[in-house]
Amino acid sequence: MEELYDVIIVGGSANGSQVARVAALEGMKTLVIEEHPTTGFPEHCSGLFSYTGLIALDALPPDDIVFNYDIYGSRLIAPNGKTLTVRKRERHAMVTNRAMFDQFLLEKAVSEGAELLQPYRATIATRKNGLVEVVATNRKQEEVTLQAKILVSAEGVRGKIAEQMGLKGPRHDSLIYAAQYFVKDMVGIDKELVEVYQTHEFAPDFFGWIIPMSETEAKVGLGTSLTGAAKQLDRMIEHHPVMRERMQGAEIYRKIAGRIPVMGPVKKTYSDQFLLVGDVAGQTKPTTGGGVILGGIAGMIAGKVASDAIRKGKTDAKSLKVYEKRWKKEMARNLWLQRKVRNYMNLLSDAEMNRFFDKLDDRGLLDKIETHGDVDNQGKLAMKLLGTLSLYPFYLKTSYKLLRAIASK
Ligand SMILES: Cc1cc2nc3c(=O)[nH]c(=O)nc-3n(C[C@H](O)[C@H](O)[C@H](O)COP(=O)(O)OP(=O)(O)OC[C@H]3O[C@@H](n4cnc5c(N)ncnc54)[C@H](O)[C@@H]3O)c2cc1C
Repeated sequence: MEELYDVIIVGGSANGSQVARVAALEGMKTLVIEEHPTTGFPEHCSGLFSYTGLIALDALPPDDIVFNYDIYGSRLIAPNGKTLTVRKRERHAMVTNRAMFDQFLLEKAVSEGAELLQPYRATIATRKNGLVEVVATNRKQEEVTLQAKILVSAEGVRGKIAEQMGLKGPRHDSLIYAAQYFVKDMVGIDKELVEVYQTHEFAPDFFGWIIPMSETEAKVGLGTSLTGAAKQLDRMIEHHPVMRERMQGAEIYRKIAGRIPVMGPVKKTYSDQFLLVGDVAGQTKPTTGGGVILGGIAGMIAGKVASDAIRKGKTDAKSLKVYEKRWKKEMARNLWLQRKVRNYMNLLSDAEMNRFFDKLDDRGLLDKIETHGDVDNQGKLAMKLLGTLSLYPFYLKTSYKLLRAIASK
């Protein structure tokens, strides 16, 4: 007989761990299957998280995981190098070691009672008699077969298990490719401000960033719809007027890469005995690519919904639909608005973006951004900016693009 679990989660990264922690806390026999020997690797994130988000996830990390507690705001950098600074009165985000953060979350789930099968890759998932049978294989090709009352895919953008279970993960032709370097001996960094570089020239369809770990050390990266993000980043470091200055005499000591779903949620995130959580569900912010807070919130909802369904003995799609209803209530509007903002920004040329920055360069407007800007909910700010009269001439001039952005997916 194969071992039977209440909940099996494929993927032991940030969002899978949230599902596992909640399911275990609910008294479910819970198993996480993670393919990599050390959770969090290969690293694929900047580890920038809001305090409010971390508190909502009950995931404030210990000191040894935090590089920088003091993110107060951003320097927004136009294509021509013009810089606008928005700074909140209180610090609102921190920069963490993402790989260690994943390990911290997984340990939390295990300490609540979740079991771990690692390093094993879930290779086959099939429904059988109202249960899900999962085959997992390690690097020596040793195989185990397990059963779950509910299977949760938190497998990231790859979406292979999702596909086997009849749901679709994010479209691969719409992913953003990202490259990030860990850099020391940088100049001109403010430890309290993240730098966000709007530039079609170097980062088409996304943006570049410098996320300070200290006064001289930072994560420097960019995302783009083009493959070869690292090449684009090298070019940006060499030629962008502001980034080039920051990188004078600096040393790159580590490089990572990853892919980000930015098209918003996938069509369906539940089916019989099955849920999707995190990047595989497209629960990632189209504006910034952040997916740990929103995916984590959805993960907690999934853990609770799965547990309730198992207690009631009803694990069919109809009974699990409430998962989608609940996570959508939390974030669907925000994600939709962010998608429209992303569309609009992608359509603006660098020259138009420079003009937009000129318009934003007004104390009243920057105050508005400081007040309403929220790392996890940029939809709110988007609505405020859309309602700002002084920006209307700009919207009018780019109305075709604005309408196209709203109309397209
Ligand atoms: C360069 C970059 C910077 C980013 N910066 C930020 C940031 O600052 N803040 C933020 O919130 N988000 C950021 N993101 C996004 C964030 O990394 C993702 O949203 C987040 O990692 C999604 O978590 P997840 O648990 O859904 O998936 P993943 O982190 O992708 O985890 C999936 C896990 O599943 C495992 N897995 C996959 N398939 C199987 C299988 N078949 N069997 C067993 N295990 C399997 C993988 O090994 C992995 O551990 C960034 C992304 C990139 C690429």
